[in-house]
Amino acid sequence: MTVAAKRISEKQIENLNQQLHALAYNLWPSWNPAAQRIFKELSPFFWEDSNHNAVEVMNFVSGQELRGRLQDPEFFAKVDTVCRSYQAYIKEKNTWASKNTPWLKKTPVAYFSAEFGLHESLRIYSGGLGMLAGDHAKSASDLGLPLVGISIFYRHGYFRQNISRDGWQQEMYPSYDPARMPLRRVVDKRGNPVICSVQIGSTDVAYQAWVVEVGRVKLYLLDTNLPQNAQFFRDLSGHVYGGDQSNRIGQEILLGIGGVRLMRKLGITPSVFHMNEGHSAFLTLELLREQLQSKKSLPEAEAFVRKHCVFTTHTPVPAGHDRFDRGLIEANLGRLATTMGMSTDDVMNYGRIHSGDQAEPFCMTVLALKMCRAANGVSQLHGRVSQDMWKELFPDTPVSKVPIGAVTNGVHTTGWTTPTASMFWTNHLGPKWIDKLRDAKYWHKMLESKKISDQDLWAMRTALRRELIEFVRKRLREQQLRHNPDDIGLYDNVLSPDVLTLCFARRFATYKRAPLLFRDLGWAIRVMTDKERPVQIVYAGKAHPRDDAGKHFIQEIINITKRVDLFGRVVFVEDYDINVARYLVAGADIWLNTPRRPMEACGTSGMKGIMHGSLNLSTMDGWWREAYDGMNGWKIGEDTTASSDQLQDDLDAASLRAVLENQVIPLFYDRGKDSIPHNWLRRVRHSIATLIPVFNTDRMVAEYAKKYYQQPAKK
Ligand SMILES: *Cc1c(COP(=O)(O)O)cnc(C)c1O
Repeated sequence: MTVAAKRISEKQIENLNQQLHALAYNLWPSWNPAAQRIFKELSPFFWEDSNHNAVEVMNFVSGQELRGRLQDPEFFAKVDTVCRSYQAYIKEKNTWASKNTPWLKKTPVAYFSAEFGLHESLRIYSGGLGMLAGDHAKSASDLGLPLVGISIFYRHGYFRQNISRDGWQQEMYPSYDPARMPLRRVVDKRGNPVICSVQIGSTDVAYQAWVVEVGRVKLYLLDTNLPQNAQFFRDLSGHVYGGDQSNRIGQEILLGIGGVRLMRKLGITPSVFHMNEGHSAFLTLELLREQLQSKKSLPEAEAFVRKHCVFTTHTPVPAGHDRFDRGLIEANLGRLATTMGMSTDDVMNYGRIHSGDQAEPFCMTVLALKMCRAANGVSQLHGRVSQDMWKELFPDTPVSKVPIGAVTNGVHTTGWTTPTASMFWTNHLGPKWIDKLRDAKYWHKMLESKKISDQDLWAMRTALRRELIEFVRKRLREQQLRHNPDDIGLYDNVLSPDVLTLCFARRFATYKRAPLLFRDLGWAIRVMTDKERPVQIVYAGKAHPRDDAGKHFIQEIINITKRVDLFGRVVFVEDYDINVARYLVAGADIWLNTPRRPMEACGTSGMKGIMHGSLNLSTMDGWWREAYDGMNGWKIGEDTTASSDQLQDDLDAASLRAVLENQVIPLFYDRGKDSIPHNWLRRVRHSIATLIPVFNTDRMVAEYAKKYYQQPAKK
C-alpha cells in the first residue's frame, strides 16, 4: 500500500480534486450508487444531514482535507474509477439517439415544465408531474437525446410539511440558497450573468437563470429574484404553485415567454418545443410574436408555431387546468397583444374553446391544444378520457378521432433502484442489467433461471422492509421530539419486520382516496391485528395548502394512527419527498393505489417498487389497467366506472377488503418449511419480468422521440 501511495503525484490529486468538484455539480450520481458512496464516505453525517447534497458535502470538506483523503490509495482508486465512468458516460458518442434521432443534435428538444423532480436536495417539484419531468430528463441523458429543460428556480420551493399534535398539516417555506445547491449561474463569455427580460403587464421584469446538469442534459431555471425588480416580481419565482391567480399568470409568462427568450439569448434553436402540461403554453404566443415580427402573415406564423410544438396533458381533473379571466389576460398580456397587432379578444380566442364567446375564460390547455402539432395523454385510458374532455374543440371530428394520442408514463428505473436493490441485481446479474432495462426476454430468462434463488430474493425483500422500518422509526422520533420530548421513545417499536407491509404515499388529493382501507374500521382492526397474519401500513403525503378536504384526509389517517387498538400498525411519515418515497417504494410488500377511476391520468409511484420486488394492488386506473395481467399484482374493482362517486367508493372499498383478506394476506403468509413464501415470490418474479421492460422512461422517451419529436418537414 505504501509503495502505491507514493506513486500518487500531487498533480494526480489536484486533478481528481477538480473532477470531484465538477461531479458534485452534476446530478448523475443520483443514479449511480458508487458515486453516491464517495460523497457519503467523505462525510457520512453531512451527507444525511444535507439530504444527500453533494455540493454541500464539497462545501463542507476543505481542500486540505480532501487532498488528505485522496492520499489514501484505496479511496483514490474509488474516486478515480467513478470519475472515469462519469467521463465515459458524458463523452459516449454511440448512443440510442445518435442512431435514431440524429437531427436533434443541432436542434434539440426544448422541454418546458413548471416543476422538475430530480433530487431530494432540489425542491422545485410538488408531485407526479415534476417527477415525470425529472425522470424524462434523466432518460433523455441516458439515451443521448439532445434535450434542454426549462423551468423555474423557486427560492422557497414547495412547502415542507409538519403535522401538528391535533393532526393538522402545517406548511413551512424555508429559503434555499443557490450557492448550496447543484446550481450554477448562467453567464456570458465574459463571465457576466446573463440577464433577460419579459413584459408582465406594463412592467419589464428582469430574470437570470441557473443551470442544473442532469447527466448530459442541461436544465435552465429562471429566477426573477433580482434587485432591479420590485418586490412583487422578485417573489414571482418564490413558490411552486404558491400564489394567487395573478402570481400564477406571472409565473407562466416567465416560464413560457421567458423560457423562449433565454434560449434565443443562449443561441439554442429547438426543433420542437415540448409543453409538459399547459403551464408553459404562453411559449406559443412568444413564437407567434417572433414570426409576426419577421413579417410572416398570421396564417403562416400560426402554422410555423404548430409545426414546432407538442403538448402533453396530465389530468382529467377540471381544476387541474389553468384558467384566467379576461381582466387578467388584458392586464398581463395587453402589451404583447398590441405588439402582435391584436386586440385582447384576439388573444383570448386562442385560449377559448368557442372563439368569440365573451363569457369563456382563457384556458392554458386550450391554447396548447390549438397551437401544437400533436398532443397526448399519459396512459391509454387517459388519452381516451382527454379526447372526450376536449372534443368540443374539434366539433367536426368523432370523439375517437380527436387528435389526442397517448404515451404511457414510466419511471427512470436506475434512479429509483435503492443501493441495496442495485447491489442485489449487480451481484446476481453483473453490471449489465442496467443496459437491459427494456429487454423483456432478458428479464424473463433471468427470473426463471436458478441464478436467483427464492432465498436470495426473499433476503432482499426482508432487508428492504427493515430499512423502511428503521427509517420510519427515526422520522417518528424526530416528530415526537417536537410533540412530546418527555415520551421520546413512543414510536421506537412501531411496525414489525415480519409483518406484511402496505405503503400508501402520494399527494393527498381527495380522488386518491387515502382512507379507503378504513371505510369499515371494524374490519380493518380485526384484519390488521390478527395474531397469526397481521398487516401494517405506512402513509405519507402532502395536501395542497388550499385543499382543506385533503388535509381532513390526513387528519383522519393521523387519528387512526393514534388509536390504541391499531397503534404501531398504522403510521404516517411527515414531509413526503423523493427521499421518503425511495424508502417506501422499496420497503413495501404491497403498494396500495386507490384513485377513483378515471381521475388518475397515469400514476407512477407503483412503478418505482417493481425492481425491489414490491407488488401493486390498485384500482384499474391509469397505468395499472394496462399493466395488470392477473398474476403480476392485484386489482381492486373492475375496469368500469360506477354511476356515482358514492357507489364507486363502496364497491372499491369492498373489493379492496376482499382481495386483501382472501388473496394477498393468505399468499404472503403461506410459507414453506424454510419460512419463505414461494408462491408470493412467483408473483414477484412475474411482476418484474412483465413490468420492468415497459414502465420505464427509456421506453417512454424513445416513444416520444419516435412519435412526437420527428423532424418537421421542410416547407
Ligand atoms: C413518484 C412520486 C409522485 C407521483 O406518484 P403518483 O403515483 O403519480 O401519485 C409524487 N411525489 C413523489 C415524491 C414521488 O416520488
